Amino acid sequence: MLQLRPNCECCNRDLPGESTDARICSFECTFCSTCAQTKLSNRCPNCSGELVVRPRRPAAKLVQHPASTERIYKPAGCART
Ligand SMILES: [Zn+2]
Ligand SMILES: [Zn+2]
Repeated sequence: MLQLRPNCECCNRDLPGESTDARICSFECTFCSTCAQTKLSNRCPNCSGELVVRPRRPAAKLVQHPASTERIYKPAGCART
């Protein structure tokens, strides 16, 4: 099951499970749309994979299958290269 991380790794902004603003790579590194576009050119800084729109999990499903609460914040990896 996809890990829905609660925040952007670059700017620490909250990204709830139903957010349309979340971007994710195949390893589930998670960023907001603003960082993905302006800082990362839609490439994950950790694995160089593409960042795509994270599918939303409907609120009813979040009750049974809650989003991850582990915040990952690595601003050092997000500098424009
Ligand atoms: Zn961000
Ligand atoms: Zn990645």
